[in-house]
Amino acid sequence: MTKQWTTKKGTHRGGKPFNKTSLHRLLTNVTYIGKLRYKDEVHEGEQDGIVDPDVFEKVQARLNRNGRSGGSEVRNKHGALLKGILRCKACDCSMTPSHSTKAGNKRYRYYVCLQAQKRGWDKCPTKSVPAGEIERFVVEQVRAIGRDRLLARESIEKASASVREQIAALATEELLIQRNLAQWQNQLADVIRKLPAGDEDSVLLGILADLQDRIRENEKRLSEIRIDSDGLRKTMVDPDEAAEALASFDELWDTLVPREQAETLQMLIRQIEYDGMSERIAITFHMAGIKSIESRLLAETPE
Ligand SMILES: [Zn+2]
Repeated sequence: MTKQWTTKKGTHRGGKPFNKTSLHRLLTNVTYIGKLRYKDEVHEGEQDGIVDPDVFEKVQARLNRNGRSGGSEVRNKHGALLKGILRCKACDCSMTPSHSTKAGNKRYRYYVCLQAQKRGWDKCPTKSVPAGEIERFVVEQVRAIGRDRLLARESIEKASASVREQIAALATEELLIQRNLAQWQNQLADVIRKLPAGDEDSVLLGILADLQDRIRENEKRLSEIRIDSDGLRKTMVDPDEAAEALASFDELWDTLVPREQAETLQMLIRQIEYDGMSERIAITFHMAGIKSIESRLLAETPE
């Protein structure tokens, strides 16, 4: 777990499992070798190091090497930021990254509608879209939301309200099932009491089997409901903290390496629908993704 502390405002921070970002911070923190970082400079610190400088250097070398090769491997081969999240609205299918080589060896990247590719160009009004353009647009939209706290808060509250409604509906269903279950269990006990010992009463046995089936089915549904509402509850975010997370998305975007940019965007956005006719783009956020971003980007240690 990461270090825990309480902010001046009384908010609890840290105490979360290490993620890639917090682990990276830990491994690259020069405080552990008795130094001090001021902006881009590293100075001798007042404190003694607790990590062998040789080990520290080896770790840095390995991080640098893996960071570079990881970049090209993790990021897909066309370097497509929106792979897996961009969809063609008209065909309700995904748009996949592709590229062509134009004259002069300049690579032209685009996303193409899978249906248009399979069933013919004239079947789809969207067809394809230049990759650079739509990527820049989407990133700019997300950053703009991050810059506008009020807008971020509103969007998150709207999404939270719909999650709360779904949780409430599940709770109502759960209550109803529990009431029925109690009733059926009483009836079951009743039937068992009435069953003559050693004798087979086909009517009573039929009722018994029917009750047992109903109870089994509804207990199954009950556990589904609990899993679903647990899952939904986990996606709930605090609007203020989520707005803060989106703000840090804007602030940190330029400092992220391409691989991290792709990861962060994929984590944050569930889908982007592109309508080639009207050229409209609809971005749907992942509530759970906002939460991950929150813990990823806000896992900073206090001053
Ligand atoms: Zn299409």
